[in-house]
Amino acid sequence: VPFGQRDVAPEEKAPLVGEVFRSVATSYDVMNDLMSGGMHRVWKSVTIDRMNPQPGHHLIDVAGGTGDIAGSFLDRASLREPRGRKPADAVVCDINHAMLKAGAGRSPAARICGDAERLPFADRLFSHYSIGFGIRNVTDRAAALREAHRVLGYGGRLFVLEFSQPPQDGFRTLYDRYSDVVIPRLGEAVAGDRESYQYLVDSIRRFPGPEALAREIEEAGFRRVRFERFTGGIAVLHMAAKI
Ligand code: SAM
Repeated sequence: VPFGQRDVAPEEKAPLVGEVFRSVATSYDVMNDLMSGGMHRVWKSVTIDRMNPQPGHHLIDVAGGTGDIAGSFLDRASLREPRGRKPADAVVCDINHAMLKAGAGRSPAARICGDAERLPFADRLFSHYSIGFGIRNVTDRAAALREAHRVLGYGGRLFVLEFSQPPQDGFRTLYDRYSDVVIPRLGEAVAGDRESYQYLVDSIRRFPGPEALAREIEEAGFRRVRFERFTGGIAVLHMAAKI
């Protein structure tokens, strides 16, 4: 199946996604910077602000890749760690070994290979669940959101950071042009892999808009769902609570 094909059947999507990330794992961090002009760092930093990490918090960062969200979460919580208080902890969970391996040793977060749709964890174990640029690649999004709800304790909070499409027409046109012309070429130049990056562009276009995703999050059982657009809507952070 060519990576750039727009209508990939669900049963073909899981191996396809695995292949895409195996081929880009090593150059992934560099590509993230190039593709977003470094903005993904700012979006992640604001996401960590919204999470407000504290001693005693337990984060699961699903589709965590090389684990930068979990690492920043722990760094931020440790700033608030008076002696004797239980530190925060974090688990990076990703379906792909190569991504976990590429990030090993970068932070004290645990790393576990697992599928967002069937998390290998007991119910109500975590206070925070994050998924950064990962939900778009999950085959059964409703199942992943139900799993997020299951592993969070009551009062637990969900954070979904994902690329989106700018709502404003003029900016949208520019962004579409950048996506069509620049991103696949950057993918070719930096990762030697044009098709994987064409797949990323196509998957962003197929992904539901923020309002529709907010409804899906609510259908999974979450409450107080809200979202915040970053950089004119190129990325969106959804936040919700299990109550
Ligand atoms: N969260 C990291 C970040 O923001 O830099 C990595 C994002 S990367 C674009 C997407 C990640 O999702 C990849 O590491 C991929 O292996 C993982 N992934 C895709 N499908 C998954 C699934 N069903 N369960 C868990 N991880 C998945």
